[in-house]
Amino acid sequence: MFDLVLKNGMVVTPQGVILSDVCVKDEKIADIVSCGRCLPAVSTIDVGRKYLFPGVIDLHVHFNDPGLPDREDLRTGTMSAAAGGVTTVADMPLSGNPTIISSAALTRKKDAVLERAVVDCALWGGLVNDNTEDLAEMAAAGVCAFKAFTCCAGDDFPYVTRDILLKGMLEAAKHNFLIGVHCEDEEIISAMEIDARSSGNNSVRDFLCAHPPISEEKAVDMVLEAAEISGARVHICHATLPSVVRKVTAAKSRGIKATVETCPHDLIFTEDDLEKQQGFLKCTPPVRKQDDVEGMWEMLLSGKIDIVSSDHSPSTLSQKVSPRGNFWDVWGGVTGVQTLLPILFNYGVIKRGLGIEELAQLTSTKAAKIFGLWPQKGAIAVGCDADFSVFDPVAKWTVSQEKLFYKNKHTPYHGMEITGKVVMTFVRGKCVFDNGVINLIHGKLLDCNKKN
Ligand SMILES: [Zn+2]
Repeated sequence: MFDLVLKNGMVVTPQGVILSDVCVKDEKIADIVSCGRCLPAVSTIDVGRKYLFPGVIDLHVHFNDPGLPDREDLRTGTMSAAAGGVTTVADMPLSGNPTIISSAALTRKKDAVLERAVVDCALWGGLVNDNTEDLAEMAAAGVCAFKAFTCCAGDDFPYVTRDILLKGMLEAAKHNFLIGVHCEDEEIISAMEIDARSSGNNSVRDFLCAHPPISEEKAVDMVLEAAEISGARVHICHATLPSVVRKVTAAKSRGIKATVETCPHDLIFTEDDLEKQQGFLKCTPPVRKQDDVEGMWEMLLSGKIDIVSSDHSPSTLSQKVSPRGNFWDVWGGVTGVQTLLPILFNYGVIKRGLGIEELAQLTSTKAAKIFGLWPQKGAIAVGCDADFSVFDPVAKWTVSQEKLFYKNKHTPYHGMEITGKVVMTFVRGKCVFDNGVINLIHGKLLDCNKKN
């Protein structure tokens, strides 16, 4: 007797989309069989030839928990994930309090996950200026990867200089951790910002001038060089430029263990949109020019981008608006965990011919492999965790604030008409999202060093 059978699904498997029934037993996919057989199960759901995607793995979210619950917490963040077909998130080590740069801080984070998460959760630790000696202990305690910044990320998350980055990567190579990096050149961006501010230049355009493409490119060069010297695995977070993706492609061909991610907002919005949307679209590196957006799609469609993550980075409404009209003072970070899959389906599959299997690779399979969660996560195959989203490819809907589960319901996608909708989401065979309603199940804390 199976626990659950999902009947008549257009099942997105690594071998292609196959109309079949998926059987779940003890939280795992127990069998995938052709339709029409009467399979004994505690619960059977006919998904009516909708797509069954492997649960999305969003490797880049900031749920600000513990510490800054005004912006988001692990409950609202993972509810939003569930509503977007995301069954595993990897929470970033900064923008909460404390930042996850020590084993003690990690313990508090784990408690928050176990108490509040409704989808499965893996954790990033931080590589900062003075904790390279603590990395191995944090990894042994369950951190799956370490995030570093090459530019300012706040006083409680000091950025790495070149020597520290290399030191961290040598440690990473020894113990086989992944290092993910936010790439911008601190010297360039801080000099430009100080100069602009001192002249009273405080607009969106001034902000864009202070985050030029060359700043991202230079930082990526430094990171890839450190990866080459150390032999560590590196992940370039939220690339916004085709030139950056090309650098990673060239590095891969030289045997460097590098991967690259981009975000939906980098594939949809331009500098002109930032002028219109102001704070709601402010993030760093910033959204770029139309040519860059087109170039990023070419990179994505030709398989040169490994994964797409949301970089869901919430804030309160007041943090998004500067009372004095000074754009420098606006909080940087864009929300998006709930819209990741439908936005990519609408703009990638429908508008640009991205394959369904490629979409599953970009949003699930490769993320599982990069983060050490494969083969437990990342595919609809016998033996994998029963993580799915049921996706209606023809349903039309409009992104609006009242549909969002975010604590602060702002999104740059507000008002967009989208084709393709997440209807149900299952985490290890349990239904966490059903047609607009969240079921509060318990998410699991994932440790990529152990069998979960
Ligand atoms: Zn981020």
